[in-house]
Amino acid sequence: MIKYVCDMCGREFDEDDLIYDVKIEVKAKYKELEISLNDLLVDHMDEIKELIEKTKGLTAEKLQDDVYKSYSFHLCYECRQRYIKHPLGRGRSNLPIDKRYFGKN
Ligand SMILES: [Zn+2]
Repeated sequence: MIKYVCDMCGREFDEDDLIYDVKIEVKAKYKELEISLNDLLVDHMDEIKELIEKTKGLTAEKLQDDVYKSYSFHLCYECRQRYIKHPLGRGRSNLPIDKRYFGKN
């Protein structure tokens, strides 16, 4: 049997404990692309060369981490209660929790 541990306090869960999954995705937000006929007719080789130059020496992992990173944690009830009060960390945001953006993408 797999033994789970609360990732916040380190307490080992008993068999009948409720375990909370926390999944966090941090991803770059992009504007929707609109491609015009002009975009298709322009030569983009200079832009591509510039992009290749900018990313030279960076690993594929680093490039991916810069646009997408996910985390998964298990929490006990007490840690879940603390976590949902300050999901961005205590003192990390000046916005009241009801004013923060919790969008679906
Ligand atoms: Zn805990």
